[in-house]
Order: sequence, then C-alpha cells, then structure tokens
Amino acid sequence: MPPTPRFARHAERPTPSQRTLGSAIGCVGTGLHTGARVALTLRPAPAHFGVVFKREDVPGAPAIPAGVDAVADTTRCTQLAGPDGTRVRTVEHLLAALAAWGIDNVEIALDGPEIPAMDGSAKPFFFLLGSAGIVTQDAPRRVLKVLRPVQVREGERTATLRPHPGFAVDMAIDFAHPRVGRQRLALEVDAASFPEELAGARTFGFADDVESLRARGLARGGSLANAVVVGEGGVLNPEGLRWPDEFVRHKALDAVGDLYLAGAIAGRFEGRGSGHALHVALLRRLRRERDAWRRVPASDPAIDAADPPPALARLVAD
Ligand SMILES: [Zn+2]
Repeated sequence: MPPTPRFARHAERPTPSQRTLGSAIGCVGTGLHTGARVALTLRPAPAHFGVVFKREDVPGAPAIPAGVDAVADTTRCTQLAGPDGTRVRTVEHLLAALAAWGIDNVEIALDGPEIPAMDGSAKPFFFLLGSAGIVTQDAPRRVLKVLRPVQVREGERTATLRPHPGFAVDMAIDFAHPRVGRQRLALEVDAASFPEELAGARTFGFADDVESLRARGLARGGSLANAVVVGEGGVLNPEGLRWPDEFVRHKALDAVGDLYLAGAIAGRFEGRGSGHALHVALLRRLRRERDAWRRVPASDPAIDAADPPPALARLVAD
C-alpha cells in the first residue's frame, strides 16, 4: 500500500510550509505529440528548489526550471525551454497535479522530450504524487496574491485573474461542434476537489483535425487510449466520456497547470475560451503590472479568509 499523504484532511487550506515528495517515484508512457516513449522520475527536492525538469537523455542533463520565462511554445501544449534551449513538452497536466497537492519543490527527470500523456488526464500524476507521499519542509510557503483584476484578450477569448481568498477556476468554452457546444465549470481548486472534479478529464481533439495535426508533427502519440476524439457523429472512444462536460473540465485542468508556472496563486481565474497561449500571456501581463499582485506568506490571514472554503462545491455548472 502506498503511504497515505500526510495532510489529506486539511488539504483545502493553504499551509504555511513548502512541500516536496516523501520519496522518488516514476512512470513510463508515450508523449502525446512526439509519440516518444519516455520514462519520468519525480524526486524530492530541497526547500526553495522549485519545480525543475531535467532532460537526462541530453548530454550534461540540462535543467529546465518551470516558470513563465521558460515558455517556448504554446501550440496545442505548453512547452518549456531551459537556458541552453533544451525543451520539454506537454508539462501542463503534471503541473496541475503539483498545483493541487501544493508541491513547491520537485525534480522531474525524463529521458525524452515530452511528459508522457498517460491516459490524457492528470489523474495518473495526482495518484503518483500522492503515492510518493507529500512532506512539509522547514521553509515558509509563499503565494502570489492577486490584488486587482488583470485581463488579457484575443478576439472573443479572455483570461482574467481577480482577487480571491483561495484559488478558484471558472472556465467556459463554446465550440461549434454540437457534442461539445457551450460548457462552463467553476470550482475552488484544492487537493480535495481536484481529484473529484478535474484530474480525470482527458485531452480532447476533433477527428477532422488529426491529419493536419500529424502533418505539423503534432498528436503523433495520440490515440483513443490517451485522448477523447470527437467525430462527426459524436465521441469515437468506445468507453464514452467520463463526464458529460469532460471538455470544459479538461480546459479548466489545463488552466490550473499553466497558471502554476507562476507558483501558487491566491486568486480567481476566469477563462472564456482561453488556452495555453492566453494563460501564459495573462501571467506575463500580471508580472508587468506590479501593483496588481504581491507575494505573501501562505499563512496570511487574508488568504484564509474564506472560512470554510467551498472545497467540493461546483459554484457554476451549465
Ligand atoms: Zn491538456
């Protein structure tokens, strides 16, 4: 039996200490876009280390620290590059699982160019991290507290961060395909709500797009085992959907992962058709607007003000 994560009962509240893993743990899988078979090892790391990817298949095993500055591409996934240009693709689902557990410090070693897709969701990563155990460290945790709304827009699409005591996501999508259509989901994100409501939501794509994606070198490892594929008549996966609104749940999951590039946030994210590019643009704007946020200790009473936080409540669902 894997060890029980230490703080499960109090997961809905930010705690004042940084966190890492209790032990190293790994998995092997296929990259969604590259199709590469990749072994991933997650290792405990000291306080203030941060989230750092390490390409052990590249000479010198270059490090790629997670951060807004490291974003090199946002076409269909979030891709990071280290100081020497070495890249790692499709980091968002693993980052989302780290965000949900509140893990500040971890070394993510991989022997290929892309985080394995697993089943297309964050559920295997969330489980893996919980199985390794979460330990608190002797260093204060700091969060980025949003002080006033900040928004970026691209046509009809927007991404906004607003002040909020905890961390909440409110995502809405509107796809022409009738099987997807308009969906909206809002919830407080923490280690209790994440596995229930978001972690299992899978990547999705449209059958019509598959050929053009492959021609562009994308989705090479994609299959019905790691993505929901929507065809003209409906979902092609024989097992169907995990939720009727699995699509918006996955978009919310992507936002949680992308936003963790800035570390833990106390704020409410609102996405209206937003994707990786807009999420990263929002973080870049936030950083420029220095009066819109402040780094505060996670124990700041202003952050704990929501008492009790609506951990499992879906605030909006339509
Ligand atoms: Zn995704």
